[in-house]
Amino acid sequence: MTAPFRLGQGIDIHRFTAGDHVMLCGVRIPHDQGVLAHSDGDVALHAVCDALLGALALGDIGQHFPDTDPTWRGADSRDLLRHVHTLLQARTYRVAQIDLCILAERPRIAAHVTQMRQNLAADLAMAISDVSVKATTCEGLGAIGRREGLMAQAVCLLVQE
Ligand code: MG
Repeated sequence: MTAPFRLGQGIDIHRFTAGDHVMLCGVRIPHDQGVLAHSDGDVALHAVCDALLGALALGDIGQHFPDTDPTWRGADSRDLLRHVHTLLQARTYRVAQIDLCILAERPRIAAHVTQMRQNLAADLAMAISDVSVKATTCEGLGAIGRREGLMAQAVCLLVQE
């Protein structure tokens, strides 16, 4: 690790299936569909995990938590996030900043953003003012626009302690 600052970016997408809620940043949001996934299908946390792993050049979430491993079946993605946090702490980095964007036509995210930021801040030992969570629709365009699934994109900045 040669730089005192490290950038990462992560993307995740999951397909909707039958169900009654989605998990986003550990918040259970009622919805008329669920998410097809090995874990709890929390695209937001998966994008953040991938951003953090990317910042450290440690591969991706699929390598660390393979969907062939029964350990992670139905996993709480906050447990995955906290595990990733231990990896960066072990390398003497901390998360200075996160900017997360959720792409979904539905459900609406705005009412849950504060709780999402609080969950991320708690799991990564950050101030809530350093955690941005925002959302956009896709204006009806493409697979997300057709409500076939939802997606998240995250960027992060790590600082060496
Ligand atoms: Mg995922």
